Amino acid sequence: MNLINPRVVKDGLEPFLEPKPTREEAEAAVRTLLRWAGEDPTREGLMDTPQRVTKAYGQWFRGYEEDPVEMLQRTFDEVEGYDEIVALCNIRFESYCEHHMAPIIGVAHVAYIPTRRVVGISKLARVVDTYAKRLQVQEKMNAQIANTLFEVLKPQGVAVMIEGEHHCMSTRGVHKPGVNMVTKKMLGVFKDDPVQRQEFMDIVTRSKA
Ligand SMILES: [Zn+2]
Repeated sequence: MNLINPRVVKDGLEPFLEPKPTREEAEAAVRTLLRWAGEDPTREGLMDTPQRVTKAYGQWFRGYEEDPVEMLQRTFDEVEGYDEIVALCNIRFESYCEHHMAPIIGVAHVAYIPTRRVVGISKLARVVDTYAKRLQVQEKMNAQIANTLFEVLKPQGVAVMIEGEHHCMSTRGVHKPGVNMVTKKMLGVFKDDPVQRQEFMDIVTRSKA
């Protein structure tokens, strides 16, 4: 069956119209990888593994089914003119590197300075989750979160900093566990004003103390 899969998005922007493989095809692919690893996919302990793996993919990559723009639509303006920094620190995320499909586990720090309207803070965490639950490069994920908040909320500024441990680096390759990769993206006043940028960095530092 040649079902078009509209959920698959290319670069997070354009619909990528590829036929979606069937569940059977996906499970067969898992059996191939098991054989590639040196296993016997027909032995008892592995019998249901392809089914479990494809189901787990639905959770690990659920971000392709979620629309971060839509989750930011509901905003509130009864905030007495609040126009200072709103920051959410240490948002834990689990993502997967697009080069090895290995986990990237870490925290994101997200801040913005509203222009009249604010968004529910849980929505900031959900935007992080949505982009995390896709195949990622940390720099790209960082930019996507910041750009989406900036474009949809139209705030005075957005700051996003991400610290991630890349399991493709800690469990294979150079085998360096405990190394955190740090990326950040500053937009609007956080980019233009060193004082605002420093305040964000101070809030992040204090959140770890
Ligand atoms: Zn990798």
